[in-house]
Amino acid sequence: MLHKKIRIPEKKTIALVAHDHKKDDLLAWVYKNKDLLKDHNLLGTGNTASLLSERTGLKVKAMISGPLGGDQQIGAMISESKVDILIFFWDPLEAMPHDPDVKALFRISTLYNIALATCPTTANYLISSPLYQSSYEVEIVDNGHILNVGHRDKKKS
Ligand code: PGA
Repeated sequence: MLHKKIRIPEKKTIALVAHDHKKDDLLAWVYKNKDLLKDHNLLGTGNTASLLSERTGLKVKAMISGPLGGDQQIGAMISESKVDILIFFWDPLEAMPHDPDVKALFRISTLYNIALATCPTTANYLISSPLYQSSYEVEIVDNGHILNVGHRDKKKS
């Protein structure tokens, strides 16, 4: 499998998501780290983004709500290198109708080697890392290889 390097810019695009019972935790975390977040591009699933915008004054772009496809929407952005960091406080004590979407989002985040925090402790590590304040390179799977195979198959038929 081929890999390629991509550069994560100093100004990051950060996706923020929280399940309902974790929204207060994410709100508290975002509020505490407001100064470190304000100069980056912020987005989130519908209800999470609205809550964070209203309660912190930060500009958080609202995507589709999680259960209605927002997790998949953010996953698609990650696969296009349009999201650099995912902070997703998920609820480990409750089954969700969109559990498959959440699993898919974590899979895509790992595949594309982005920084992912699922609880406040990891989010604290992430935001206090020197990498958070700088540009850096990550290695990801090169989908050009996969596209080439598809192209070759198409020609044969
Ligand atoms: P919400 O979605 O921010 O629209 O509530 C979060 C989720 O359940 O994934």
